[in-house]
Amino acid sequence: MNKFINQLLQMHDLEVTLKESHFISKGRDLRSAWSELEEDIRELKSSLPFEISSVYDRISKRYPMPISPMSDGTCTGCFINLPVGLVNRVKSDNEIVSCPSCQRFLYYDDSRMEGQQTELHYKGIARFSSPELMIPALKATSMDNAMKQIAMHTAEKGFVEDGQLFSQLLLEREALSSTVFENGVAFPHARGIRACGLTLTVAICAIKPDKKNAVPPPRLLFGSAVPRQTSMFYLELVSKLAQYFGKEENLKKFLACKSAEQMWKLFVLVGK
Ligand SMILES: [Zn+2]
Repeated sequence: MNKFINQLLQMHDLEVTLKESHFISKGRDLRSAWSELEEDIRELKSSLPFEISSVYDRISKRYPMPISPMSDGTCTGCFINLPVGLVNRVKSDNEIVSCPSCQRFLYYDDSRMEGQQTELHYKGIARFSSPELMIPALKATSMDNAMKQIAMHTAEKGFVEDGQLFSQLLLEREALSSTVFENGVAFPHARGIRACGLTLTVAICAIKPDKKNAVPPPRLLFGSAVPRQTSMFYLELVSKLAQYFGKEENLKKFLACKSAEQMWKLFVLVGK
């Protein structure tokens, strides 16, 4: 991948992580994590040529996702069909190319995996998961251990290509700032991973609280593989899930599930 596009994507991931962290913290003081993230963002930005970072700033004001993957010769930001010459320039990866219609930076993306597909007839949030991805009693000893198991399960069922990499990316993201809400609902996720679209693996677990850790242990985890095209959409999804499971009665009912079938029956109702 082009060096500058790579930097832009990293920078954007950190900006989104910062936003997520503010959203999840709910009054907890995570200022030191935030200032670290801000510092990393500043550093990445200052390493970019000014003509690129200034365009990035300008487009960011207009769109939440200023960098757009090109798929099947189309800008996935504005869905315009790109001229063949431009498609080839994006594919060659030697230069920074902007979409002639929406001005977003374009890059070539082949992260869409063939094969296992989520059933298309599901509606709502259920589109992003599957009965096979419901885990009713995850035997995890810690948040890290839970994330590893979720990653391997998702790969075993064929929804992501590389379980090890998924696991590593989940751990790295979680280390930047915790995705565990105060009620024990957690949203560990990995961006930019090769997957069958946005994929949620849902696990119920009982982890002993760790006195040294200010973050509560997770009780319900939504482990997500987030391909870049779905990055901004993922935030909407998290806010819907957080809202739904923020209601104690919904959370209690879900945590009482003893089988994947029971979980799935309740999961398809979320957001309805
Ligand atoms: Zn466009």
